[in-house]
Amino acid sequence: MSAFWDQAGEHLRFAAELGVVGTSRDPAWRHRITVGAESNASRGEADASRADAASARAGSPAPADALLAVQHEIGPQCTRCKLHKLGRKQVVFGVGNPQAKLMFVGEAPGADEDQQGIPFVGRAGQLLTKIIEAIDLKRDDVYIANVIKCRPPQNRNPEQDEVDTCEPFLFQQIDIIKPRVIVALGTFAARALLRTLDPISRLRGTVFEYRGAKLIPTFHPAYLLRNPASKREVWEDMKVVRQLLQAD
Ligand code: URA
Repeated sequence: MSAFWDQAGEHLRFAAELGVVGTSRDPAWRHRITVGAESNASRGEADASRADAASARAGSPAPADALLAVQHEIGPQCTRCKLHKLGRKQVVFGVGNPQAKLMFVGEAPGADEDQQGIPFVGRAGQLLTKIIEAIDLKRDDVYIANVIKCRPPQNRNPEQDEVDTCEPFLFQQIDIIKPRVIVALGTFAARALLRTLDPISRLRGTVFEYRGAKLIPTFHPAYLLRNPASKREVWEDMKVVRQLLQAD
């Protein structure tokens, strides 16, 4: 089969997995993201195990242990911000591969996540799982966390004092995992990480350098549930993610 048909088949498979139906003559359908001209600092498996061996020699803990230490530092009943008295059930730390090359960052736990103590397990989470699988990865391959670790009441947006208190723990998670690519899900996560007030519609389409990783802002899965047509753009973003993960 020619490269053209390989690509066309792949295109349709991605679309189907993300639930995109039909095709469109809309220019947005043909839109391609420009990847910035930054160097592609790669971190292959071998590099990761070399890093582990190096950290063991240097006396620093392996990523899984380092993450556990951060989780322990937060504690099961964190009272650092007001969310602890506003109805949250538990701290939702993060889940996945401590050495993931790909990390997703959302906003804050919702009701399902607060119940189960795991990020992205509700309807939006199920769509995120499909998005991950669309680039031939499993949830276990990646790491998923939120900017803030406790559910805001009525799922309101996190407030600045809550972000300021909680985001250092996210930064620690990123610095331990050292992902090659970070996907910021939605306006809130993208703004918090990139320290900007730009909306996601302006931020997506650009690859940012962020804490040693490439950061790709894309639409939040909850937004996609309300605006399924935007799955096309997310699909474009995920293809860039896949390219970056494959680049060496
Ligand atoms: N939305 C988020 O931003 N994070 C979750 O964990 C669930 C829904």
